[in-house]
Amino acid sequence: MILDEILQMPLLDHHAHGVTLEELNVAEMGDLLNESSSRALGGAKAFDKPVGINIRALCAPALDLEPHVSIGSYMDRRRELGALESSRRLVAGSGMSAVLLDTYDREQESITTPQHFESQLGTPALEVLRIESIFENVARSGTDTAGLMQRFGDELSALAQNAAGLKSIIAYRTGFQIDSDLPDDGEVSAALDEWLKDLPTGQRPRLDHPVICARLLWIAADVARDRHMPIQFHVGIGDDDVDMPANDPGHFSGFFADMQRLGVPVTLLHCYPYVQTAQWLADIYDNVYYDIGFMLPFGSHEISRVLRESMEIGPFHKILYSSDAFSLAELFYISAYRFRRILAEVLQGWVDNDYCARADALRIAERICFLNAQELYQLEYRNIHPLEHTP
Ligand SMILES: [Zn+2]
Repeated sequence: MILDEILQMPLLDHHAHGVTLEELNVAEMGDLLNESSSRALGGAKAFDKPVGINIRALCAPALDLEPHVSIGSYMDRRRELGALESSRRLVAGSGMSAVLLDTYDREQESITTPQHFESQLGTPALEVLRIESIFENVARSGTDTAGLMQRFGDELSALAQNAAGLKSIIAYRTGFQIDSDLPDDGEVSAALDEWLKDLPTGQRPRLDHPVICARLLWIAADVARDRHMPIQFHVGIGDDDVDMPANDPGHFSGFFADMQRLGVPVTLLHCYPYVQTAQWLADIYDNVYYDIGFMLPFGSHEISRVLRESMEIGPFHKILYSSDAFSLAELFYISAYRFRRILAEVLQGWVDNDYCARADALRIAERICFLNAQELYQLEYRNIHPLEHTP
């Protein structure tokens, strides 16, 4: 069976976030399962959706419980073992060879850093730098407008020495329907004046100016090219900051073409509901890769349709695995568990229907589970050797 082989393969999770190792009650855990700013959708209510079933069905056995126990019993067991031991079991059970963590603003003390994740949970972890957040930190730390872009570039280059990739959340800030051409110095300094004059004092600034966002991406592109790393782009599903119609990555094809000329790879994260557009982009630009992360831990049993859809026309050497797990180790476990099984189901069907040979199916599985990410992020060069970390 293809599944037996896939269960033995390394798995590289190229986009996720750190977890909290603090003890949680039901309400606190529910709040972490919802990205809405509406409190009404968090707390205990958050378990009454597919991710709640996923935790009870899949994570309960990983903590020695029967599947489908109540969420109360699950949380009792989680507390009995302790958040650290429960998280260790779940992360180990996900069988990941390595994980790349987007570190947000790098100042959230309750969330594990890559170093902390690796030392506490035992899975090798590398950092992915969030471009806009680093700019916001630099902007907060000084008032010298003229040198701001230079300081940002220097900071990003310095941090990139120890990172595996860069990430943009422009999808959350302006969407993709902006002029992505490189803005000139005059435009940038006018944009900075405009943005800085409205900055609230004492609070974290929020970058949402399209000219500054575009300039940051071009600075990031130079760093990415020098360091041989891709730029990840959040696409589609996320919290209520997302302007969904403007998240169609097709709007940004001009920028992806520019990056192709520069030799900078880009990865489209999540993509739902733009999975088909993402495949089209991956099929026409040699530098575009994609995944369906987030849907795997959060979707119901019907999520197999999304994974099937993601394999309609996309080149096999462009599909990546990610969980988009954040805050809770459960999300790593659910995502990896389901990804392996759904991928096996799809490929087994192809073999059974004589659409492809078994050897082809296994080669495709290897590409998606680890080879694509290993090559794209040059992980061997960063001292991550997936075959040494097979489940
Ligand atoms: Zn994410």
